[in-house]
Amino acid sequence: MRILVVEDDAGIASGLRTNLQQRGYAVDVCDGVAAAWSALRAERFDAVLLDLGLADGDGSELLQRLRLSPAADSPLQTALPDPATPVLIVTARDQVHERIAGLDQGADDYLAKPFDVDELDARLRALLRRAAGRASPTIRYGEIEVDPAARTVRRQGRPVEMSPREFSVLLVLLQARGRVLSRAQIEEGLYSWDAAIESNAVEVHIHHLRRKLGATCIQTMRGVGYFMPQESL
Ligand code: CA
Repeated sequence: MRILVVEDDAGIASGLRTNLQQRGYAVDVCDGVAAAWSALRAERFDAVLLDLGLADGDGSELLQRLRLSPAADSPLQTALPDPATPVLIVTARDQVHERIAGLDQGADDYLAKPFDVDELDARLRALLRRAAGRASPTIRYGEIEVDPAARTVRRQGRPVEMSPREFSVLLVLLQARGRVLSRAQIEEGLYSWDAAIESNAVEVHIHHLRRKLGATCIQTMRGVGYFMPQESL
């Protein structure tokens, strides 16, 4: 899961980056409205953590611009930015009217600074779950059961060991089930800008996932990418 942190306080930004990376997220940081808008137009993010008081403007401008951008016409179309990208406002402005304004402008949730990182992570998981259209915290797919919060996978009730990257690939494909994702789209969910990408990493992770979860769980569409069928085979 890839998160964009929009925060102009370098200390808070680096703390968020470290904490979220330890929890398995790919994290990119922007310090202002303009930089964040460029990032959202260039890459797909699963959620945005948005500070309101930014050096070059107010975070709510970015939120409004994002919500007004056109929706993708086709599920295969990668029109960016996605206006439905979940946004969690994280700010020192904790006045009730500020919170209401933020939620009215289309924020999905609101957290006042200073905040507890465990609470932030829990809210982030809830946002990602809602964004994927699921109310239940566990994802069931045939004989596979995935718990995104605990980052555990079971197959026929038995725990399956996997690396954090394998888990991320599985989650990206599972949340997009029924849709074909290119290798680049899968990589976007795995790496932040500054991370080195190994050229055949996605293929290797998928090879391991098939070995652990069954050969048919992830399908290849030659020359296009990978997908998990809507219903497990
Ligand atoms: Ca700020």
